[in-house]
Amino acid sequence: MPTMNQSYKPKQNHSFGKKPDDDWGWNESPEERAQKRKERITIASLITLLIAVLAILFTLLHQQLVGVFTDASEISPSSLSTITPSTTQLEEAAASEATAALASQLPPVESGLLVSFLDVGQGDSIFLRSPSGKTMLVDGGPDGSFPVIDSYLTNLGVVGLDVLVASHLHADHIGGLIQVVDTYPIGDIYFPSFDATSETYFQFIDAVNESQASVHRPYAEVDTLIPWDSAVEVRILSPYETIYDDFNDTSYIIRISYGNTAVLLTGDATELAEKLALKAQPNQYFRADVLKVAHHGSRDATFEKFLDAVSPAIAVISLGKNNDYGHPHDSLMDRLLERGITVYRTDENGTVTLLLDGTSVTVIE
Ligand SMILES: [Zn+2]
Ligand SMILES: [Zn+2]
Repeated sequence: MPTMNQSYKPKQNHSFGKKPDDDWGWNESPEERAQKRKERITIASLITLLIAVLAILFTLLHQQLVGVFTDASEISPSSLSTITPSTTQLEEAAASEATAALASQLPPVESGLLVSFLDVGQGDSIFLRSPSGKTMLVDGGPDGSFPVIDSYLTNLGVVGLDVLVASHLHADHIGGLIQVVDTYPIGDIYFPSFDATSETYFQFIDAVNESQASVHRPYAEVDTLIPWDSAVEVRILSPYETIYDDFNDTSYIIRISYGNTAVLLTGDATELAEKLALKAQPNQYFRADVLKVAHHGSRDATFEKFLDAVSPAIAVISLGKNNDYGHPHDSLMDRLLERGITVYRTDENGTVTLLLDGTSVTVIE
């Protein structure tokens, strides 16, 4: 503010239609001047406040715009490194380099059955590629998982899925599948004949109905098979046409075998489903080198009898870092470790990739 100089005379034509002395306040009392100064200070404060509010609004809007493309709220920190790159070119280059490195580490298609447990946080998403190059995706993780799945498939050169399976219709398994179904051409879609009621479920059903895929919802019977690759057997071992109290028990339990090697996928099936399946199917149908531990390592699944029937060398648990459920539960870890089973966890190991070559299983680091 200019210093008030008593000798200064305002120009007569200074203001339009106002008395110059009124304008500058030379004839005002000290109280009036103080009052006006107060008003000017108040106006200045209001302008400062307005600028601050605008700055905050701009920051929030910017974050929201970035969030549209990254949606980091529901994905694990390690998944984030795959997605964040869209914010800057530098990070973009680093991430595609990392993913390209991952893809280049993978053995050639014909070397065997490739199984990748993708790190989608608290959920499941498993990609399989047969020795003849057929593709299958079992589950798609929670909402927000699509970028992880999409970048993985893109870097492998996958442009469509021969088979897509939803183990059951809980959001942490189908959330990320909605965009997969919207984006990728799919041959056959399988999901159990037990409907859910969530908004995520209805969105999934809409996407499925709008896709060109053939939809199958079989129960497990003896010899319920999913046709995929003539060299690989995909066998459904659960659920049955009955009433399950726990919706997790409606999960598909699927054994995928190639030569003498096999992987068993379990969705979120709990002890009851394990028992029913063991009763309904020959024991040898459960044997597998690799077990996808049911229900993210919950204590209510993967019981002794089931573990003994599967007799895996490797167990993979798909779960989020510091999840709210206390997964994996100590008692479950004890059951695995006391049998000498090697455990891999997506919260600690990130995406876990294995190659089943018909005689042995290799972990691809
Ligand atoms: Zn789940
Ligand atoms: Zn579930």
